[in-house]
Amino acid sequence: MLGMSISAKQVVRTWWAAMAEALLEDCETSGDIAAKQAMWRADEADAYCGRCGASAGEGAATESGCPHCRGQSVAWDGVVRLDAYESPMDEWIRRMKFRRMWTWGPWFGRQLAMASGGRLRGGRTVVTGVPLHWRRRWSRGYDQAWLMAKAMGEAGGVPVSRLLERRRWTTSQSKLKSQHKRAANVKDAFAMKPVDLTGWTVWLVDDVKTTGSTLRQCVRLLKNAGAERVFVAVAAVADPKGSGFERS
Ligand SMILES: [Zn+2]
Repeated sequence: MLGMSISAKQVVRTWWAAMAEALLEDCETSGDIAAKQAMWRADEADAYCGRCGASAGEGAATESGCPHCRGQSVAWDGVVRLDAYESPMDEWIRRMKFRRMWTWGPWFGRQLAMASGGRLRGGRTVVTGVPLHWRRRWSRGYDQAWLMAKAMGEAGGVPVSRLLERRRWTTSQSKLKSQHKRAANVKDAFAMKPVDLTGWTVWLVDDVKTTGSTLRQCVRLLKNAGAERVFVAVAAVADPKGSGFERS
């Protein structure tokens, strides 16, 4: 009994600490957030590889890719990103995902619409998000990729649709280090809604691209459903190891 009451106390204490921290963060950021956003600039298209999304030095990325992805097949037809997964973007994304600061989602979505240039417009184009499992969505209160996708579609004047669903619960990819484990974790984790995407261009939105395992699974399903082209749009790309750009 004693053990149980202590652990209950600890739970309450942890909860209060988390709430206090969230409140403090809200106070800190409500005044500064607009200034931070105004100071920040999304990457220009030539700052990264449009094929895999990795940071690229001047002239390092061409139509055929960059030193990291050249010669390797990619499932999608292009990647648009806002930034590398480093300061301040990494912190903003963590706040969106784990600190209940959902308003970053629509902001990222609007930025992505701008970053996608003219490619977001045109007929037979739809925006969708990498779906969250209902349990994670329930505990978080929202699906951040969907908030981003919705804002991106609205800003670009393009329809938004939930084309994919999670079939099963998966461990958070951020807890798995190797590409092999990440790929195994999301294998068959998604399913396509019964829609025909023949002739459609799809923009698939997510918060972070790391190894690309999750995005690859989703892109394959979209292409199997007939999608002519699938572009990936992410707030940040974690630079691959050995690229010379990753964070130490
Ligand atoms: Zn590349």
